[in-house]
Amino acid sequence: MEKSEAHEHFAKLSAELAHWSKHGQIARFFLRDDDAIEITPDLIHLQKMTATRNIPILLAVIPNFAKCELGKFVKSHPQITPAVHGFSHENHAGKGEKKTELGAHRPVDQVLRELNDARLKMIGLFGHHLSDILVPPWNRIDGYVAAGAKGLGFRAISGFGWKNPNNDISWINTHVDIINWRKNASAKSIAEVTDELTANLQIARNKAFAPVGILSHHLVHNQLCWHILDELLEYLCNQKNVKWVNADDLIVNIDP
Ligand SMILES: [Zn+2]
Repeated sequence: MEKSEAHEHFAKLSAELAHWSKHGQIARFFLRDDDAIEITPDLIHLQKMTATRNIPILLAVIPNFAKCELGKFVKSHPQITPAVHGFSHENHAGKGEKKTELGAHRPVDQVLRELNDARLKMIGLFGHHLSDILVPPWNRIDGYVAAGAKGLGFRAISGFGWKNPNNDISWINTHVDIINWRKNASAKSIAEVTDELTANLQIARNKAFAPVGILSHHLVHNQLCWHILDELLEYLCNQKNVKWVNADDLIVNIDP
């Protein structure tokens, strides 16, 4: 893309952020990255590019496959908050259905037992660093499982989009995915990402200036993906009324 074209898309985003400014509002963002199990060069790259900008990461870790070394890595990089990402990221949906691990395809008790084991293993690995947020694989969770997760000690769930299956628990959703999963997990263009971000900020403005979540998947990023994420983070970090927040700080206590 031509430089001027990219500039044009950031201009739309700037115009939207100016609306927030006019209302005296700071746009809050959080970054969630999914599917970690071990230390890889890509994870180190993500850690470095966010650490230099003071951006916290909610790192969704697959409990059943998580390696001990990841525990040490997280403890030495406090900007990273690991979160339970299902149990083994296994699809239990039928053929032709959307992939789901925490859906209604198995008895709720069975799913919750697995989630409890997942949480205990993650506490063993990460101790008090562990997030109180549950991140369902493929961002899908059955309403009853979501409600039951509260009894296991989870205080919130992080899915995708603005709709949630119930209001029994706090939702800390992401809204902009930098990857196009329908196109072989390729990078979205900077124009697509900034347009989506602008559209979601408009929605957030009408939802009492709600925070907006950005989603990445370090293991599948190609060079273009890294470049786009880098450009986006750089742009946002240079805006006066943008603040990066810890996803756990967004949790709202909901009484039973
Ligand atoms: Zn995942």
